[in-house]
Amino acid sequence: MLEELYQSVKEKNPAQPEFHQAVEEVLESLEPVIEKHPEYRSAKILERLVEPERLIMFRVPWLDDKGEIQVNRGYRIEMNSAIGPYKGGLRFHPSVNLGILKFLAFEQVFKNALTTIPMGGGKGGSDFDPKGKSDMEVMKFCQSFMSELFRHIGPNTDVPAGDIGVGGREIGFMFGQYKKLRNEWTGVLTGKALQYGGSLIRPEATGYGSVYFGEEMLKTRGDSYAGKICLVSGSGNVAQYTTEKINLLGGKVVTLSDSSGYIYDEAGIDADKLAYVMELKNVRRGRISEYAEKYPSAVYTPRDNSLDYNPLWAHKADCAFPSATQNEISAKDAQTMVNNGIILVSEGANMPTVPEGVNIFIENKVLYGPGKAANAGGVSTSGLEMAQNAVFSSWSREEVDNRLHNIMISIHKQAYDAAEFYGQPGNYVLGANAAGFRKVADAMMAQGVV
Ligand code: NDP
Repeated sequence: MLEELYQSVKEKNPAQPEFHQAVEEVLESLEPVIEKHPEYRSAKILERLVEPERLIMFRVPWLDDKGEIQVNRGYRIEMNSAIGPYKGGLRFHPSVNLGILKFLAFEQVFKNALTTIPMGGGKGGSDFDPKGKSDMEVMKFCQSFMSELFRHIGPNTDVPAGDIGVGGREIGFMFGQYKKLRNEWTGVLTGKALQYGGSLIRPEATGYGSVYFGEEMLKTRGDSYAGKICLVSGSGNVAQYTTEKINLLGGKVVTLSDSSGYIYDEAGIDADKLAYVMELKNVRRGRISEYAEKYPSAVYTPRDNSLDYNPLWAHKADCAFPSATQNEISAKDAQTMVNNGIILVSEGANMPTVPEGVNIFIENKVLYGPGKAANAGGVSTSGLEMAQNAVFSSWSREEVDNRLHNIMISIHKQAYDAAEFYGQPGNYVLGANAAGFRKVADAMMAQGVV
């Protein structure tokens, strides 16, 4: 019966392979849940969940530094508001299209349900590429983008945040434009700088959260990060703070990457080297290849699109933290990692592992934390930022970090317990989907057919 629904999703949403992939994974793993709860079938909960409540697509015209007109496409997917206002990031990347944003919005619904904070699911962005643009161009784009988006969002309606290509700079420009158009200060965006309503620990939250989630998985086997060799991909927000927290907990990170290639530093990326990466990526906006010029202990390998695997994952290690983008671990990569004795994969990125790769990890009893559970620390701390804004208050670093840590422990427990309840102990994919789904499904049942 779920196969029939999956086929109809594919037919109704052609040319959206990432959305199909995300739906298929959820439908497959929910089978034992649906068997126990036929009432969800008759209420057509799944049919309703795969259909966004609202899709917004718009033109974003802006003037570049040469005075030429550029035109991009903007999107906001308001996927599900059963348990709270739509919440989810904005992605600015040339690859952005409707299918990618719908996969992200769909996953966000389940993820947000796990956070213990009342937040619905949404996602948005544009095919605009901030790379190589001046600050002035980025500002003009962000202002034009918000000149349309502002009428669809609000602190109790839809609260966007950052994602790939959207960091503190972009959030600042968009917040300024929203405030000007609405003539009111509200916590309509999260990921703001501290001076104007941001939360301490929000920049760190996704990376820290993914490492905390991994720590909980390790504890189920009486293990810890001490002395563990770790592979991290990406070198943006999530990768940077994943590296910082692993270092603090006694592990050693030996890789980082960007879309041009990756570095392998056998000596480990310690706090000083990480400070260099942060300056390189967040201030100078340079390439990760420069790391190998600065540190001779590192080897840089340029990306080779003709390969059907990513050599970053072929280095022998204990733990892996994919933190760049979707489908960056192929089935071949997953098999290589298993052959090399990997014991833990905690996904900072969204859907970084292809479905065959996920099956390889699960079959081989790797502690595998899917993105919708492992990277939920970011949106959780966005929820904490909303709470602080709502009461015009700001909490200390320790307070936010403690809350984040406790939320990650709770997300792990929900996923772990649900996997056990539905008869597949240790299967965090089933556990996260089942626990997130049940919360949203019960809320939808209570609210009637809307
Ligand atoms: P950033 O833009 O800060 O960093 C993204 C990193 O991934 C960069 O190193 C980038 O390289 C690399 N990357 C992006 N696209 C590709 C690609 N197609 N191929 C190879 N490398 C790529 O984004 P974030 O760190 O915020 O996001 C990383 C992942 O984490 C995404 O999957 C995002 O959805 C997920 N995530 C982020 C959250 C957050 O709070 N920021 C919350 C939850 C999930 P380059 O610089 O060359 O583009």
